[in-house]
Amino acid sequence: MSNPLYDRLFGIHAGKATPFLHLPDGRVLSHADFLDMAARIANALTACGLEPDDRVAVQVAKSPEALALYAACVQAGLIFLPLNTAYTTDELRYFIENSGARMVVADAKSQADIEPIAQAQNAMLETLNADGSGSLMRRALGMLPAFEPAHRTEDDLAAFLYTSGTTGRSKGAMLTQANLLSNAETLVQEWRFTAEDVLLHALPIFHTHGLFVATNVMLSAGGSMIFLPGFDLDDILRLMPKATSMMGVPTFYTRLLDDHRFTGDLTRHMRLFISGSAPLLAETHTRFEQRTGHRILERYGMTETNMNTSNPYDGERRAGTVGFPLPGVELKITDPETGDPLPQGEIGMIEVRGPNVFKGYWQMPEKTAAELREDGFFITGDLGRIDADGYVHIVGRGKDLIISGGYNIYPKEIELVLDDQPGLLESAVIGVPHPDFGETVLGILVPEAGAAPDLDAIMEAVSKSLARFKHPRRLILLDELPRNTMGKVQKNVLRETYKDMFA
Ligand code: ATP
Ligand code: MG
Repeated sequence: MSNPLYDRLFGIHAGKATPFLHLPDGRVLSHADFLDMAARIANALTACGLEPDDRVAVQVAKSPEALALYAACVQAGLIFLPLNTAYTTDELRYFIENSGARMVVADAKSQADIEPIAQAQNAMLETLNADGSGSLMRRALGMLPAFEPAHRTEDDLAAFLYTSGTTGRSKGAMLTQANLLSNAETLVQEWRFTAEDVLLHALPIFHTHGLFVATNVMLSAGGSMIFLPGFDLDDILRLMPKATSMMGVPTFYTRLLDDHRFTGDLTRHMRLFISGSAPLLAETHTRFEQRTGHRILERYGMTETNMNTSNPYDGERRAGTVGFPLPGVELKITDPETGDPLPQGEIGMIEVRGPNVFKGYWQMPEKTAAELREDGFFITGDLGRIDADGYVHIVGRGKDLIISGGYNIYPKEIELVLDDQPGLLESAVIGVPHPDFGETVLGILVPEAGAAPDLDAIMEAVSKSLARFKHPRRLILLDELPRNTMGKVQKNVLRETYKDMFA
């Protein structure tokens, strides 16, 4: 019997007393401790009647037990389906119904709310709380710490991961064992992770970044993680001396830079800082290097494909770019209308193909057919270009493209100019309906703390550097941009807020 994902990520650590999870209270779980916990949970899940290919929907706080539940699902051949802890009961109903989950694992606090949804689906409901208590672990503790892994092939599904819902309703991406394994093993090589590495892990584990990128990479490399329940500046600063590397979203880096306790001394021993899930401003990259001497390594990926590109470990990590396609990943830029490849250097749709690309959206055949070509290329929905040296630049999402009076306007080009203006921290440029032009450009600006930017002067600076049709029709000041838990700016929320401005 074989189960490649289990065997290569988890099974290889059987019986090892080496550290796997360092917890903020000082406790350390070895690889063997973790695998024992996972096997007990796998026994508990199968004792409940779950069988290979059943979906287990999980909305719980980040904890070692929650991570062991992922391992247990892999071991028992169940499809792991982690859900954002911020989702409300109404949102959960969609995911539970859509996925056809046979079991829901949730915090006891939401038990009463979820009970009717689970019942309507004929799904079992177990509880798992942030401190590891609840019905799931009560069952598991009575079980044996050994479980024969269910037979699986690399083509079998391992997880349904729902997209972040930045551009519309979340879609369930069906990921196979091969999707996850190939990407984890490639990233270990690319980023030089070894058993000596200690990763500072403050990301959520319901998203591809914290779960598949961070956790699978560390499992494959055999290293350990400082496993924090969330991003807490004090914890990060206190524990960084024990780490060798960190993976974060751009807001982690800006928050660190905003704290004077974050110094070059604190990071001197660090091997690697990685950023992804949202664009890292070139300015953040530069400030980080000035403060610490480290160049953040930015990479690009998504729920459907795991990671696609990465800046090089050894070569130049170029600010404002996401580097080169990973080994085994093909990336091309195509005309969004026709799908034909565009000449080098032109902006178009990013398409990717490789062992990392998912099997399709669960129960959305039309969407799958529209985004996943028969030849295996996935139409990412992101616009980008490849520069003369081969670095991939993300220009923005296709859905954020502004078409005004027949012209294509890329918000990022305008945002880059705005971000450079005195007194401005960041900006978001969106298209809003306009009676004459179809759409027109609106600039939303966030001032630096305590600054009162001069909007007329900013407008003048923009007029000097950009063609007239790209000028924002109006500039608006906001204290902060709406962001989701992964630090992604929610332009759909901004578009909704300002949709009647010129209508
Ligand atoms: P939905 O597909 O439901 O609208 P989403 O695309 O935000 O949500 P994810 O799969 O979590 O859901 O995010 C993937 C997207 O994140 C990519 O398509 C890209 O737009 C963005 N992204 C990831 N890494 C980077 C990066 N380094 N620079 C710019 N954008 C990035
Ligand atoms: Mg997406």
